[in-house]
Amino acid sequence: MTMGGLTFLTNYNDTLEQNAEYLRQILPLMSKHKIATDPLNFAIFYEYIVGRNIPLKNELDELLGKQDAFTSELSVRLLKKHICDTSFDSLENINHILLQLINKTGEALDTTGEKASAATMDFQNQSKRLENNQNLSEIKAVLNEIIAGTKNLAETSMALQAQLDESKKEMQLLRQELAHARETAKTDALTGLLNRRAFDQKLNEYIESHKQSNVELCLLILDIDCFKQINDTFGHQMGDNVLRYTANLMKQHITKYHCAARYGGEEMAIIMPNTPLNRAMEIAEKIRISLAQHPLKLKGSKKSIGKVTISIGVSSFKINDSLESLVERADQAMYRAKDNGRNQVMAENII
Ligand code: GH3
Ligand code: MG
Ligand code: MG
Repeated sequence: MTMGGLTFLTNYNDTLEQNAEYLRQILPLMSKHKIATDPLNFAIFYEYIVGRNIPLKNELDELLGKQDAFTSELSVRLLKKHICDTSFDSLENINHILLQLINKTGEALDTTGEKASAATMDFQNQSKRLENNQNLSEIKAVLNEIIAGTKNLAETSMALQAQLDESKKEMQLLRQELAHARETAKTDALTGLLNRRAFDQKLNEYIESHKQSNVELCLLILDIDCFKQINDTFGHQMGDNVLRYTANLMKQHITKYHCAARYGGEEMAIIMPNTPLNRAMEIAEKIRISLAQHPLKLKGSKKSIGKVTISIGVSSFKINDSLESLVERADQAMYRAKDNGRNQVMAENII
């Protein structure tokens, strides 16, 4: 959905033919599982058939396998989780405020309109009463009526202006709120990095636009070593602090063209467009070293949680790579870094 150029949902820009093909698949599938073809369910199955929303596809496959009833609560939950999460509630709120604003402005316009028509009729009567009228006191009385009517009209018009000014201010606030909702919909709340959905979308966009060319695009998968132990020893809260700290370190070492994301749990990812493999390895190494060089300490306390380390796998884009194949190679490289003793950076296997 786009409002004033602000995008809330995924960009749906598939061709007419592609959409017709999706439709041919969606309806029989929904009918097979006896799912009501209402707009919410349709949005979910549209995403499913398009196939780019992997987490949704996985969860829906599981649900359809279980043949559970597809209740409206379930569709709202799926929609919030996989399609428009936090922006869903903000959108409802924004929609509500917008409706109120439209109603208030509409009422003010109606009142002004009614008053203006009444004044027009009065003026027409008064003008008739003036025609060929020689009676000075009557002319004076009519003139006074006209002056009062004009004053009244001016006041009404000022009230309308005030209402319009207020609406304009509220509209500006709404625009800011919309922009904010769009940002939070893309952001992981704990680390401030891109969330998984925004990451998938970004990487898919890069891959789509470079499918047939040999671009220098690298992908890093970063996984904190023995993170479970940090949680178990120092508590989940401290684990969260370590995640935030690591995310901040990543931000410090990447350029504005790189996109860092929380891939899931204690696993992060960085997309590096226009970056050759050796440069991506250098940056990965810098992140690794800067994390591992000092034992981490709790702010304002002497308590140390020891050295935290990270294992990083790096893959580089090849012609015809898909999101899955690129991620898979970075993942494999990361697991080789783990197997090799952790706290190291590994490049994908070049075959
Ligand atoms: P390895 O070196 O092999 O990666 O070991 P690990 O302990 O890091 O890996 P494992 O997958 O066994 O454990 C990951 C842990 O991360 C388990 C899970 O509870 C924790 N975790 C996932 N998300 C969060 C989070 O948001 N906050 C905190 N504090 N812990 C999390
Ligand atoms: Mg780990
Ligand atoms: Mg992990």
